[in-house]
Amino acid sequence: MSYDNNNIFAKILRGEIPCHKVYEDADAIVFMDVMPQSPGHALVVPKAPSRNVLDADPAVLAQILPLVQKVANASKKAFAADGITVMQFNEPAGGQTVFHLHYHVIPRFEGAALKPHTGKMEDSAVLAANAEKLKAALA
Ligand code: 5GP
Repeated sequence: MSYDNNNIFAKILRGEIPCHKVYEDADAIVFMDVMPQSPGHALVVPKAPSRNVLDADPAVLAQILPLVQKVANASKKAFAADGITVMQFNEPAGGQTVFHLHYHVIPRFEGAALKPHTGKMEDSAVLAANAEKLKAALA
């Protein structure tokens, strides 16, 4: 399978559709997942086009993990989380639904199960408020 330039994250990267942005630099963007599995669920997305880990340039993989770590620490602080789940899916059989490489950074709370993957759309106001909290913790 090859990379499809019209996947939803490619459109977000080109500014063709909106997102609740938390952070952006020359190589990556971080925004809130519209169907959070836990409050504060964010996505760390390298700008370089690849479907997932299987076809990514190893240099991109090496560059993105430090940002994932930063966002994970900021997320723990911003949402007073007990832990953080980092997830990354590859191809439909691996659970992937959007075919542009990304890492899920999900705040976790003792005793709270994850909501379903690609479950319910969150209110825009809630996503905006959580984006601000995460942005502040990253600064
Ligand atoms: P995957 O299944 O590919 O690992 O994860 C894709 C994630 O993107 C899902 O958690 C889903 O909720 C999220 N998602 C799908 N469409 C959009 C969208 O248009 N905007 C944002 N911000 N997230 C999306």
